[in-house]
Amino acid sequence: MSEEPLLTVEGLTTEFTTDNGVLTAVDGIDFEIERGETLCLVGESGSGKTVASESITRIVPTPPGEVTGSVTFDGQEIISMSESELKEIRGGRIAHVFQNPQDALNHCYTVGWQIVEAIQTHEPNTSKQEARERAVGLLNDVGVANAAARLDDYPHEFSGGQKQRVMIAMALVTNPDLLIADEPTTALDVTVQAQILNLLEELQEEYNMSILFVTHDLGVVAGIADQVVVMYAGKVMERGGVHEIFDEPSHPYTRALLECLPGKSRSAEGIPGSLPSPISPPDGCRFAPRCDYAVEECRAGDQPPEEPLSESHAVSCVHYQQGYDPAVIREEVVQEDGATTGGVSSD
Ligand code: SF4
Repeated sequence: MSEEPLLTVEGLTTEFTTDNGVLTAVDGIDFEIERGETLCLVGESGSGKTVASESITRIVPTPPGEVTGSVTFDGQEIISMSESELKEIRGGRIAHVFQNPQDALNHCYTVGWQIVEAIQTHEPNTSKQEARERAVGLLNDVGVANAAARLDDYPHEFSGGQKQRVMIAMALVTNPDLLIADEPTTALDVTVQAQILNLLEELQEEYNMSILFVTHDLGVVAGIADQVVVMYAGKVMERGGVHEIFDEPSHPYTRALLECLPGKSRSAEGIPGSLPSPISPPDGCRFAPRCDYAVEECRAGDQPPEEPLSESHAVSCVHYQQGYDPAVIREEVVQEDGATTGGVSSD
């Protein structure tokens, strides 16, 4: 096994040309995903996490979009790859699962027809009979009961959770190395959401996949992540192992997101204010207009550089720079919340 990360993202920037100016949705972000690891990109709606995930395989529309920076997948640079080279990877070694399975499935064709077509597109020499047998196996793998019988049902005959299972089965057709799952459980009720998360964990082991999981929900992150990257207004605010993020949240934005979890201090009202315009973001820290700890220095220059707190944990906030005292942030949360803000199990 190679020791290089499966995916290395460096300086990823995605801009869209609009009538009102250049909209920078993702602004120079970096992260790595190891083989077999789950990395969660988390942030509020509009933080840039979905555009970042779609920029990896360049499925953002270009134009009006433009993706720059570097994305290295298993040693190959994706950003400069030709469209025909990228096709081999996109939908092959890297598969996507999206939020709304009803939008992704074609309601005019049976589920079996769609899975068989996906198999034969990827493996043209596979006979229809072989493809149907594989489709049954895939539906079994994702927990669709009576898989052989359900093959000839139409999407509308499946529940929301079952449709998402079908979409995951279609993503597994190519035995991907990396699954990019963008809010795959958001449209589902809590019980089904938990089932899908468990399923993804089981499949990750069975298929030896890495997962890039995109979500606004830190509760979901606690259940599935190994590593977490917290994004706000196109920038990385904090990154760390899941236990570091939940047990030692250090950026005011991460702490605010945790305070919005059910039963926490901001669960009813959320974080006051809204994200800045991606066309004209504020100087300095992007979170400054909403931050309870902002000082004058926060409102000048660029986003503060990420300060390492450990080998895997880093935070972009002036209070962690030399000459400042991060206790101003940490102490207040300890007073509000008790000893810990954590919500992640230790297993
Ligand atoms: S840099 Fe300033 S504004 Fe940004 S999170 Fe830290 S304290 Fe708040």
